[in-house]
Amino acid sequence: MELEVWRKKHIRFDRIIMVTLIITSIIWLFTTSGAKFATYYNSSIYTIALEKKCEQIKQDEQRKEEERIRIEQERERERELERLKKYAPLTQEQIEKVNNIYSQEEKVAFLTFDDGPSPAVTPLILDLLKKENIKATFFVLGDRVVANPELVKRAYEEGHYIANHGKTHIYSQIYTNSQTVLDEYNITNQAIRNAIGDQNYNARVFRFPGGYAGGIYSEIKKEARVVLNNNGIASLDWNALSKDSEGAKTKEQLIQNVITTVGQKNCVVILMHDANNKILTYETLPDVINYLRQNGYTFKCLYDIL
Ligand SMILES: [Zn+2]
Repeated sequence: MELEVWRKKHIRFDRIIMVTLIITSIIWLFTTSGAKFATYYNSSIYTIALEKKCEQIKQDEQRKEEERIRIEQERERERELERLKKYAPLTQEQIEKVNNIYSQEEKVAFLTFDDGPSPAVTPLILDLLKKENIKATFFVLGDRVVANPELVKRAYEEGHYIANHGKTHIYSQIYTNSQTVLDEYNITNQAIRNAIGDQNYNARVFRFPGGYAGGIYSEIKKEARVVLNNNGIASLDWNALSKDSEGAKTKEQLIQNVITTVGQKNCVVILMHDANNKILTYETLPDVINYLRQNGYTFKCLYDIL
């Protein structure tokens, strides 16, 4: 009897252990695989999220790059339009602006150099203007542009205005009739285009050799001015000068001529020359610049009004 009781107890005990083991195993199995699954699930969610994030960053960067290229292209188009606008034939309003250049109220000095470019003088003047941070206007001659294209290119690239002074400077040729004036303008204009490497360039401002007013060709010049204006080209003389082409022999004479002709004027367009024999013009230029600065003038070139 006692044996029977002991056996039953023992069997119960065995069952309890077995059931406990099974339950423990089931719990262990669930928790381990659950953890593994959770880890796997979490890591795949994390990987997907990471991939999504990377993709988003890539797309954002691509969008930013596309936007940057679009803005750059837009700016390039605007610059191109701005550049072409500068070459378009002058409007009547712009021609009037050139005609009325002297009526500006502020004290302004336009330094202008005619009859160049020349290898002996133009580079020196360009060096000095760069040092002084002044932009000037060069009325170039077609024949000299063909002979010294690199100097025109340099002047243009350094921000100076390249204006047109005809091809030959020989009065009997250029002033044959009004059409020959336009022809010399066009030939010189083409020479400037070739020199600076821009076939759209248009000087748009002409200076009559010897000046517009007076002389035996005054009637032809008058007619030529109308022809030029009709083609969107203004003409400009000067209202002050150093007389460097009229026999002034010393620096003192040149500077005195500038002081006298500038006088009390507000806006001065000063005639000087940068032909090969005008080294004195270059040597006087620092004094001319100093005088004008000390007397309250700021320097402009034709780009500032056109
Ligand atoms: Zn000249």
